[in-house]
Amino acid sequence: MYNKEKREVIHTALEIKNSGLISLSGGNVSMRMPNGHILVTPSGLSYEGMKEKDIVVVDIEGNRIEGTLRESVDTVALLYIYKHLPEVNAIIHTHQPYATAVGLIGNVFPAAVTTLANVTLGPVNVAPYCSAASLDMGIQTVNYLGGKRAVILKHHGVIAVGKDLKEALYAAVYMEDAAKTYLAAKAAGQPAIMTEEQTNDAVEIHKSYGQKK
Ligand SMILES: [Zn+2]
Repeated sequence: MYNKEKREVIHTALEIKNSGLISLSGGNVSMRMPNGHILVTPSGLSYEGMKEKDIVVVDIEGNRIEGTLRESVDTVALLYIYKHLPEVNAIIHTHQPYATAVGLIGNVFPAAVTTLANVTLGPVNVAPYCSAASLDMGIQTVNYLGGKRAVILKHHGVIAVGKDLKEALYAAVYMEDAAKTYLAAKAAGQPAIMTEEQTNDAVEIHKSYGQKK
């Protein structure tokens, strides 16, 4: 069941691994099917060599539909997010070092470069500490997303969301690029922050990015 979509999940997981957003088997990738089933990466398994059969399928209540491996330990949080945000059909959770570092020095990742606004739709909030693999992680994500495509979990990592895996992937990867630039500037002085108008402009321009379908 869902072999094409399972391959998309694995491909996305490899992309975040290759982009340096996770190490070993950290983080997770999941997507929601139109019928409500959720595909989620298994717990503690290396993304390299991951096969379609390794992806676990659960329903919105967490009941197992398919798969023999244990699903990601964060599934309880992921299900809460899917339940409360019907427009979200893909979630990527990483421990990406630079964006996570931004979360240690403030309560918001300001829109300092267009790259961030392009993919997250503006400044990214930092949610207070919550335990990994807890329902609280899902609750804080929903509370702090504020209509954006990412939230930083203080002392932990990042949750990126989207209507599809590509949207969530772009948010996670470009947010990390933006975090590197922001932290480099911060190390040398006080970074300039984009105005709301400039931020909205970057969001609008990005809507026409890429190939027309
Ligand atoms: Zn985590």
